[in-house]
Amino acid sequence: MAWASSARVNAMSTFAEPPSSATAYRPVARVDLDARATLRRLSTRVYVPAFSIVAVAAALIALGWSTRWGGTSFSASMSSLRIVVIGPVTLTLLALFLVVERLRPAQRRPPFARGYRQDLLYTILNATLVVPLGTALALSFAEVARHTLPWIVIPRFGAVPRWVAIAAIMVAMDFCNWLAHFANHRVRVLWRFHELHHSQEDMSVLTVFRTHPLIHVSYLLALVPGIVLIANGAVPTTMLVVYAGIVAFEHSNTNLGFGPLGRILVSPNYHRIHHQLDGPQDVNLGFALTIWDQAFGRAIFPTEATIRADTGLPGRTLPVEQATAAPRHLTVLGQQLLGPFRPMSRGAAMPVSDGARVIERRPPSPEAAAAPRHQAAMP
Ligand SMILES: [Zn+2]
Ligand SMILES: [Zn+2]
Repeated sequence: MAWASSARVNAMSTFAEPPSSATAYRPVARVDLDARATLRRLSTRVYVPAFSIVAVAAALIALGWSTRWGGTSFSASMSSLRIVVIGPVTLTLLALFLVVERLRPAQRRPPFARGYRQDLLYTILNATLVVPLGTALALSFAEVARHTLPWIVIPRFGAVPRWVAIAAIMVAMDFCNWLAHFANHRVRVLWRFHELHHSQEDMSVLTVFRTHPLIHVSYLLALVPGIVLIANGAVPTTMLVVYAGIVAFEHSNTNLGFGPLGRILVSPNYHRIHHQLDGPQDVNLGFALTIWDQAFGRAIFPTEATIRADTGLPGRTLPVEQATAAPRHLTVLGQQLLGPFRPMSRGAAMPVSDGARVIERRPPSPEAAAAPRHQAAMP
């Protein structure tokens, strides 16, 4: 933690320079010790680094607001994002996928399993809160990028057709999503926000919405290709709807691997391995394309053993709706959204692939131990 180390630097510099009198450094040292004690006390109550994500989001939005979103219409941008997230085509696709996963389920689940109902709450949260938040973050980030790094915008290539530029943006955007997702699995503070997405034990197409609103700060990186190539083409909303549809479908509880196409396109069977309970989860990080996982040695292709694998977090490090005797959807929703700010559990570890040392298993809480691992059959 930066401020912990600066406190250490303060202490060292206090003693490195000979004080002019015996009392000269004492007030500084006392302030330093007080700061450390306060920090220690604070870290038993909250996970302090999580507030850095809040600070980044707030600073970005304040900048965007002060520049009137760089002259871009906020309401028009929000309408486009709403069409992608919850527009009529997206809703039709989601309904279709919900039928497909009933017809060919990876794991048998009742139609109104707890996990599905919880993810429906996240769908509503996305439609109401995340769309304006995402719009504000995206417009602010684009304005900051254009203002501070104006040279990243490439001028128009005369000979390059517009569709080539759009295809390049889509592919590069998918890579940026992969990078951000990788960071979510490797940087502790980001993992605290991404953990929620991995906590689902009853995957469904709605699990795509099971994300912490603030994790979108990390995915702002995916806007960079569109900013760089803006003079050569802008991705139509329809293409973004198709992209969102692919990402939604891979979360569905469907036993489908796409055949040979599954070597390139992320299928439900491929993405399930990313959510697998008993295994490293920093594999199969691709959003739409598997090529990035293959290029970086992180692709695990589905087998008979993986297509029905259980999903969720080892040791249930975050409260989940399946853990209690009675469903408490709103309470659990609040706990899950506040989860990143809770102090770290002792022994909690990110389920990553670099050896068993980081895949430590925490003993389940008494509450979780009392409940069967999957209570999807319970109402
Ligand atoms: Zn992930
Ligand atoms: Zn996922």
